[in-house]
Amino acid sequence: MEQFQFKKKFGQNFLKDDSIPSKIIFYSQIPEDTLVIEIGPGAGSLTKQLANHSKQVLAYEIDTSLEEVLDQNLVSYSNIQIIYDDFLQRNIREDLKDFQYKHLYVIANLPYYITTPILMKIIESGIIVDKIVVMVQKEVGDRFCAKPKSRNYGSITVFLNYYFEINKLFVVSRNCFIPKPNVDSVILSLTRKEEILHVTDFSLFSKLVRDSFQYKRKNLRNNLKSYNLVKIEEVLRKYNYQLTSRAEELPLEVFVEISNNLSK
Ligand code: SAM
Repeated sequence: MEQFQFKKKFGQNFLKDDSIPSKIIFYSQIPEDTLVIEIGPGAGSLTKQLANHSKQVLAYEIDTSLEEVLDQNLVSYSNIQIIYDDFLQRNIREDLKDFQYKHLYVIANLPYYITTPILMKIIESGIIVDKIVVMVQKEVGDRFCAKPKSRNYGSITVFLNYYFEINKLFVVSRNCFIPKPNVDSVILSLTRKEEILHVTDFSLFSKLVRDSFQYKRKNLRNNLKSYNLVKIEEVLRKYNYQLTSRAEELPLEVFVEISNNLSK
């Protein structure tokens, strides 16, 4: 590890010791018979503890120069499989085909430069994840947990809240990492909701949400010009909003109902 050159381009900030991984394990409450997906095992400090507390770990690491370090650090574990590849390029469903498990968790200290693409990929892959426990930059955590009418509320907030109940677990100081990043981090838990609102056409819902937030300073009428505005207004009125309202005012249920009304 001494000679290892950290690569900024891969968002490599490794946890210095085992105390944060232990805390992550404590809060994750991993049930028996769980497969855990980890994105970016780095030198394996979290990976080890995940392996100690779950049935199996499937990890994705883009940096092949970590293979030697990981082989050494994880030599005594038989329940860890590492795929050396870019997680964003993988067919996750295909990768999961050979695993038997009752619960699926994603637990990771995410590479910050692709936090949102990673979470969107998990959502869009259609796999049923029971819980996601991830370390993200503090500001990003605020965005994911934002409520309507706040500055941080955006399309990713709506998507994540569609599937998950999101909670902030604890803050991790920048001093816990090597090399030391410029910002503090937060551990979030995203627990799959028991009741997920019915969306008739998910790709329409997804496009509608993205388009609504496309230009943050524009109102819904301007961002959604190409849609049937009469149908949109019908729903908005019901909830006391107008076409002059902005996307950041609308709660999840309103987006769902607009999308369902448009696909009628
Ligand atoms: N889990 C380790 C820890 O907590 O010490 C390392 C976390 S570090 C913030 C992020 C890790 O993600 C690095 O090991 C990096 O090489 C890896 N990574 C970056 N981009 C990736 C990608 N597209 N697919 C898979 N792994 C990636």
